[in-house]
Amino acid sequence: MVVGLTGGIGSGKTTIAALFDEFENVVIYNADVEAKQLMNSSSAIKSKIIEQFGEKSFLNNQLNNSYLASLVFNNKRKLDVLTSIVHPEVKKHFQYFKNLHVKKEYIIYENAILFESKSNLICDTIITVFTPLDVRIKRTMLRDHSSREEVEFRINNQCSENSKHLQSNYIIHNNTKELTQSQVRRIHNILTKKAAKFD
Ligand code: ATP
Repeated sequence: MVVGLTGGIGSGKTTIAALFDEFENVVIYNADVEAKQLMNSSSAIKSKIIEQFGEKSFLNNQLNNSYLASLVFNNKRKLDVLTSIVHPEVKKHFQYFKNLHVKKEYIIYENAILFESKSNLICDTIITVFTPLDVRIKRTMLRDHSSREEVEFRINNQCSENSKHLQSNYIIHNNTKELTQSQVRRIHNILTKKAAKFD
Protein backbone atom coordinates (compact mmCIF):
# COMPACT_ATOMS: atom_id res chain seq x y z
CA MET A 1 0.00 0.00 0.00
CA VAL A 2 1.34 3.45 -0.92
CA VAL A 3 0.64 6.31 1.47
CA GLY A 4 1.28 9.79 0.06
CA LEU A 5 2.65 12.29 2.57
CA THR A 6 2.48 15.91 1.51
CA GLY A 7 2.12 19.39 2.88
CA GLY A 8 3.40 22.87 2.20
CA ILE A 9 7.05 23.89 2.36
CA GLY A 10 8.27 23.62 5.93
CA SER A 11 5.06 22.03 7.18
CA GLY A 12 7.02 19.12 8.69
CA LYS A 13 6.81 16.26 6.17
CA THR A 14 10.36 15.02 6.74
CA THR A 15 10.00 15.33 10.51
CA ILE A 16 6.76 13.29 10.34
CA ALA A 17 8.19 10.75 7.87
CA ALA A 18 10.94 10.12 10.45
CA LEU A 19 8.24 9.28 13.02
CA PHE A 20 6.62 6.77 10.63
CA ASP A 21 10.06 5.33 9.93
CA GLU A 22 10.29 4.19 13.55
CA PHE A 23 7.54 1.62 12.96
CA GLU A 24 8.62 -1.79 11.86
CA ASN A 25 7.39 -2.78 8.41
CA VAL A 26 7.07 0.78 7.14
CA VAL A 27 9.50 2.23 4.64
CA ILE A 28 9.94 5.82 3.46
CA TYR A 29 10.49 7.01 -0.11
CA ASN A 30 11.45 10.67 -0.20
CA ALA A 31 10.46 11.74 -3.73
CA ASP A 32 11.96 15.20 -3.22
CA VAL A 33 15.40 13.77 -2.41
CA GLU A 34 15.17 11.14 -5.16
CA ALA A 35 14.17 13.83 -7.69
CA LYS A 36 17.34 15.79 -6.89
CA GLN A 37 19.48 12.65 -7.22
CA LEU A 38 17.86 11.58 -10.47
CA MET A 39 18.46 15.02 -11.97
CA ASN A 40 22.16 14.18 -11.77
CA SER A 41 22.08 10.49 -12.59
CA SER A 42 19.36 9.99 -15.21
CA SER A 43 20.45 10.55 -18.79
CA ALA A 44 16.78 10.81 -19.87
CA ILE A 45 16.25 13.73 -17.48
CA LYS A 46 19.56 15.32 -18.39
CA SER A 47 18.89 15.43 -22.14
CA LYS A 48 15.38 16.83 -21.65
CA ILE A 49 16.64 19.53 -19.26
CA ILE A 50 19.34 20.56 -21.73
CA GLU A 51 16.78 20.60 -24.55
CA GLN A 52 14.47 22.90 -22.56
CA PHE A 53 16.89 25.01 -20.55
CA GLY A 54 20.17 24.93 -22.47
CA GLU A 55 23.69 23.50 -22.08
CA LYS A 56 24.39 25.76 -19.10
CA SER A 57 22.02 23.61 -17.02
CA PHE A 58 24.93 21.21 -16.41
CA LEU A 59 28.48 22.08 -15.40
CA ASN A 60 31.13 19.33 -15.44
CA ASN A 61 28.33 16.79 -15.83
CA GLN A 62 26.66 18.00 -12.60
CA LEU A 63 23.34 19.81 -12.43
CA ASN A 64 23.91 23.57 -12.31
CA ASN A 65 21.47 24.12 -9.46
CA SER A 66 21.88 27.86 -9.11
CA TYR A 67 21.45 28.46 -12.85
CA LEU A 68 18.34 26.31 -13.06
CA ALA A 69 16.92 27.84 -9.87
CA SER A 70 17.44 31.33 -11.33
CA LEU A 71 15.43 30.31 -14.41
CA VAL A 72 12.48 28.78 -12.58
CA PHE A 73 12.46 31.26 -9.69
CA ASN A 74 9.48 33.52 -10.37
CA ASN A 75 8.54 31.63 -13.54
CA LYS A 76 5.72 29.20 -12.90
CA ARG A 77 5.59 27.99 -16.52
CA LYS A 78 9.26 27.00 -16.49
CA LEU A 79 8.88 25.39 -13.08
CA ASP A 80 5.99 23.31 -14.45
CA VAL A 81 8.15 22.23 -17.42
CA LEU A 82 10.89 21.12 -15.02
CA THR A 83 8.38 19.20 -12.89
CA SER A 84 6.96 17.49 -15.98
CA ILE A 85 10.48 16.35 -16.96
CA VAL A 86 11.59 15.12 -13.55
CA HIS A 87 8.51 13.58 -11.90
CA PRO A 88 7.61 10.92 -14.49
CA GLU A 89 11.15 9.55 -13.98
CA VAL A 90 10.73 9.68 -10.20
CA LYS A 91 7.52 7.66 -10.55
CA LYS A 92 9.37 5.05 -12.65
CA HIS A 93 12.16 4.91 -10.07
CA PHE A 94 9.55 4.51 -7.35
CA GLN A 95 8.07 1.44 -9.07
CA TYR A 96 11.48 -0.18 -8.79
CA PHE A 97 11.72 0.79 -5.09
CA LYS A 98 8.20 -0.53 -4.49
CA ASN A 99 9.10 -3.92 -5.96
CA LEU A 100 12.04 -4.13 -3.57
CA HIS A 101 9.74 -3.57 -0.59
CA VAL A 102 6.69 -5.71 -1.34
CA LYS A 103 6.85 -7.27 2.11
CA LYS A 104 6.39 -3.95 3.94
CA GLU A 105 2.98 -3.09 5.35
CA TYR A 106 3.01 0.24 3.58
CA ILE A 107 5.34 2.73 1.92
CA ILE A 108 5.27 6.42 2.80
CA TYR A 109 5.71 8.43 -0.42
CA GLU A 110 6.90 11.84 0.77
CA ASN A 111 6.49 14.59 -1.80
CA ALA A 112 6.11 18.34 -1.39
CA ILE A 113 4.37 18.57 -4.77
CA LEU A 114 2.32 15.37 -4.61
CA PHE A 115 -0.75 16.89 -6.27
CA GLU A 116 1.10 19.34 -8.53
CA SER A 117 3.15 16.46 -10.02
CA LYS A 118 0.06 14.20 -10.18
CA SER A 119 1.87 11.68 -7.97
CA ASN A 120 -1.32 11.45 -5.89
CA LEU A 121 -2.46 9.07 -8.64
CA ILE A 122 0.05 6.44 -7.54
CA CYS A 123 -1.06 6.61 -3.88
CA ASP A 124 -3.71 4.47 -2.22
CA THR A 125 -4.28 6.95 0.57
CA ILE A 126 -2.99 10.46 1.34
CA ILE A 127 -1.87 12.32 4.46
CA THR A 128 -1.46 16.09 4.39
CA VAL A 129 0.50 17.92 7.05
CA PHE A 130 -1.01 21.19 8.16
CA THR A 131 0.99 23.89 9.89
CA PRO A 132 -0.09 27.57 9.97
CA LEU A 133 1.59 29.65 7.26
CA ASP A 134 3.46 32.03 9.55
CA VAL A 135 4.96 29.08 11.49
CA ARG A 136 6.02 27.34 8.24
CA ILE A 137 7.70 30.49 6.93
CA LYS A 138 9.61 31.03 10.18
CA ARG A 139 10.68 27.36 10.48
CA THR A 140 11.83 27.22 6.82
CA MET A 141 13.76 30.52 6.95
CA LEU A 142 15.53 29.21 10.04
CA ARG A 143 16.25 25.76 8.54
CA ASP A 144 17.44 26.94 5.08
CA HIS A 145 18.90 30.33 6.04
CA SER A 146 16.72 31.75 3.29
CA SER A 147 14.85 35.00 2.91
CA ARG A 148 11.12 35.43 3.47
CA GLU A 149 10.79 36.27 -0.27
CA GLU A 150 12.37 32.96 -1.35
CA VAL A 151 10.20 30.94 1.00
CA GLU A 152 7.02 32.79 -0.04
CA PHE A 153 7.78 32.21 -3.74
CA ARG A 154 8.11 28.46 -3.19
CA ILE A 155 4.90 28.47 -1.19
CA ASN A 156 3.01 30.40 -3.87
CA ASN A 157 3.89 27.77 -6.46
CA GLN A 158 2.13 25.02 -4.56
CA CYS A 159 -1.55 24.07 -4.60
CA SER A 160 -3.71 25.90 -2.09
CA GLU A 161 -4.01 24.31 1.35
CA ASN A 162 -7.76 23.94 0.84
CA SER A 163 -7.39 21.93 -2.33
CA LYS A 164 -4.85 19.61 -0.64
CA HIS A 165 -7.10 19.04 2.34
CA LEU A 166 -10.09 18.20 0.16
CA GLN A 167 -8.08 15.52 -1.63
CA SER A 168 -6.59 13.96 1.51
CA ASN A 169 -7.71 11.07 3.70
CA TYR A 170 -5.88 12.26 6.84
CA ILE A 171 -4.63 15.63 8.06
CA ILE A 172 -1.90 15.93 10.66
CA HIS A 173 -1.78 19.21 12.58
CA ASN A 174 1.91 19.69 13.25
CA ASN A 175 1.86 22.08 16.16
CA THR A 176 3.80 20.51 18.99
CA LYS A 177 6.00 17.44 18.63
CA GLU A 178 4.01 15.53 21.31
CA LEU A 179 0.61 16.10 19.66
CA THR A 180 2.05 15.23 16.27
CA GLN A 181 3.47 11.98 17.59
CA SER A 182 0.08 10.85 18.92
CA GLN A 183 -1.63 11.67 15.59
CA VAL A 184 1.04 9.65 13.76
CA ARG A 185 0.48 6.68 16.09
CA ARG A 186 -3.28 6.82 15.57
CA ILE A 187 -2.99 6.98 11.78
CA HIS A 188 -0.41 4.18 11.77
CA ASN A 189 -2.86 1.92 13.63
CA ILE A 190 -5.54 2.59 11.02
CA LEU A 191 -3.11 2.12 8.12
CA THR A 192 -1.88 -1.17 9.53
CA LYS A 193 -5.46 -2.49 9.52
CA LYS A 194 -6.06 -1.15 6.02
CA ALA A 195 -2.83 -2.70 4.74
CA ALA A 196 -3.90 -6.12 6.06
CA LYS A 197 -7.05 -5.94 3.91
CA PHE A 198 -5.05 -4.70 0.93
CA ASP A 199 -3.20 -7.94 0.17
P1 ATP B 1 10.23 20.98 2.88
O1 ATP B 1 8.98 20.87 2.10
O2 ATP B 1 10.80 22.35 2.75
O3 ATP B 1 11.22 19.89 2.60
P2 ATP B 1 9.18 19.73 5.28
O4 ATP B 1 7.70 19.82 5.13
O5 ATP B 1 9.82 18.42 5.04
O6 ATP B 1 9.87 20.88 4.46
P3 ATP B 1 10.60 19.72 7.82
O7 ATP B 1 11.95 19.89 7.21
O8 ATP B 1 10.22 18.41 8.40
O9 ATP B 1 9.48 20.22 6.79
O10 ATP B 1 10.36 20.82 8.94
C1 ATP B 1 10.71 22.19 8.73
C2 ATP B 1 11.46 22.72 9.95
O11 ATP B 1 10.54 22.78 11.03
C3 ATP B 1 12.61 21.80 10.38
O12 ATP B 1 13.67 22.60 10.80
C4 ATP B 1 12.00 20.99 11.54
O13 ATP B 1 12.96 20.60 12.48
C5 ATP B 1 11.01 21.99 12.14
N1 ATP B 1 9.81 21.34 12.73
C6 ATP B 1 9.02 20.42 12.13
N2 ATP B 1 8.01 20.05 12.95
C7 ATP B 1 8.17 20.76 14.09
C8 ATP B 1 7.44 20.84 15.35
N3 ATP B 1 6.34 20.13 15.56
N4 ATP B 1 7.91 21.69 16.28
C9 ATP B 1 9.02 22.43 16.06
N5 ATP B 1 9.75 22.41 14.93
C10 ATP B 1 9.34 21.59 13.95
